[in-house]
Amino acid sequence: MSPSWQSQADMKRQCVYCGKMVTGPRPACPYCREALPELKKVAAPSAPAGSDGRREVRRGLLYMLLAAVVHFFAGGYSSLSLPIPINPVVFEYLTPLLFLSGLGFTLYGLILRMKS
Ligand SMILES: [Zn+2]
Repeated sequence: MSPSWQSQADMKRQCVYCGKMVTGPRPACPYCREALPELKKVAAPSAPAGSDGRREVRRGLLYMLLAAVVHFFAGGYSSLSLPIPINPVVFEYLTPLLFLSGLGFTLYGLILRMKS
């Protein structure tokens, strides 16, 4: 297990054959002279900063849809009566807040798409 943030020069890793710690990028272990496996660069997960905004737009629209559905049912607009009482705070403040958050997320994603 080698942390990816360390540079190759000062990296320590354990020999898989003798168990001793080996420093630096070496082709073979200096203690038992067994060939060390080649190090592979771990691909970094795609950073959100490099995204083109599609994900933000999709997530924002999903939040808005979720807020609309929750507002519809919790606010009593459907003929369906819910089996549990819903606190009025939910549809007075929380679902509008969620909707506006989704709207902001969507606008942020659109701005990211325009910039890229
Ligand atoms: Zn070794």
